[in-house]
Amino acid sequence: MKQIEQWVRPNIRQLKPYSSARNEFSGEASVWLDANESPFNEPYNRYPDPLQTTLKKRLAQQRGVRSEQIFLGVGSDEAIDLLYRIFCEPGKNNVVSIAPTYGMYKVCADINGVEYREVPLNDDFSLDVEALLAAADANSRLLFLCSPNNPTGNAFPADEIERLVIAFDGIVVVDEAYIDFSAHPSWIRRLDEFPNLVVLQTFSKAWGSAGVRLGMAFASPMIIGYYNKVKYPYNISAPVQRYALGMLDRVDDVYRWVDEILSVRSRFIEQLATLPVVGKIYPTDANFVLVRVDNAGALYARLVAEGIVVRNRSTVTLCGECLRITIGTADEMERLLEAMRRYTQNKK
Ligand SMILES: *Cc1c(COP(=O)(O)O)cnc(C)c1O
Repeated sequence: MKQIEQWVRPNIRQLKPYSSARNEFSGEASVWLDANESPFNEPYNRYPDPLQTTLKKRLAQQRGVRSEQIFLGVGSDEAIDLLYRIFCEPGKNNVVSIAPTYGMYKVCADINGVEYREVPLNDDFSLDVEALLAAADANSRLLFLCSPNNPTGNAFPADEIERLVIAFDGIVVVDEAYIDFSAHPSWIRRLDEFPNLVVLQTFSKAWGSAGVRLGMAFASPMIIGYYNKVKYPYNISAPVQRYALGMLDRVDDVYRWVDEILSVRSRFIEQLATLPVVGKIYPTDANFVLVRVDNAGALYARLVAEGIVVRNRSTVTLCGECLRITIGTADEMERLLEAMRRYTQNKK
């Protein structure tokens, strides 16, 4: 049995969190004079529910977990940063991660003064499980696995992730920002088996809501308890909580959007494969595709000149001459393909 509490920083274990007016009284009342709010400008005059009770209840039903297993943050970025602040003593603890992967894990490590140990994926972007375990030591607290991985697009096999969750003596974070596009099941189904597992999801991708900034961490009630202790008291605004409740009534729309993106993706990949400028198209479980091309810098610049922006990942580990292309509408992908065809012709 893993001792999660022993990995929590002593100052956080002992922390007495800020107690807000809405924490101290959250029952029914008709006269609210406890929080120095204005009586005017309904509904914006009131502080939001600090623990987002109604939203978490709905989300729990929808995802098949319990409310006490959910933390809501200002994007996944808040959920990532708080893990450092809960578990990593600056200058002492370290975290282990794969490379290439999502850039925020390292930025948060740098901000928090925590050593970041990168273990390259194999050339085919598969996990090197042994190397990840070998990179860890007694001071390792977090292991980041992004699956499906950004920017490579592939999801990692369940048996390999399970092996890491069991063998790693610390918190294993599985970032599932792209899970809705993948045939792989979510790790949130396994939370009760693994007390050291944290699963991240977000409203920013399949849910079409990057603008509102809402991310989710799913974990044991103990870990969620520490999240709640450390977060800003009113981190999720009332309009965002209301908005998200509305989105949860629109799951059918979200499923339709995902279906549409997946079918545009497969037609786009077929077309892409016919272009001479394209060297390799990596398999993808996400709403983007990583593509190795003839001269990524030149093609990128040419696309920008035509008003089309993709992501140049050429300088990233194992991604030399690679562009990462997000799947947009069928029209947008057709415009991109036409620009790539023109580029090939002009080069001849
Ligand atoms: C896009 C993305 C996120 C989402 O971050 P938000 O802060 O929720 O917008 C998280 N993780 C990965 C790997 C991503 O690519």
